Amino acid sequence: MAGQASSKKPKPSKVCPVCERSFTWRARWKRNWDEVVYCSRRCSSQRWKRRDR
Ligand SMILES: [Zn+2]
Repeated sequence: MAGQASSKKPKPSKVCPVCERSFTWRARWKRNWDEVVYCSRRCSSQRWKRRDR
């Protein structure tokens, strides 16, 4: 079979730069999905703080 109608838009996803995990669109972000960068508050607070030195 050709499969079901693919009229549904797939949920977008992004990769969190902090934990490097991909996270999927959530309803809580529907207003500001474009601005969402981190998967969670925790990652948002960590940002690029990690020091390699
Ligand atoms: Zn993260």
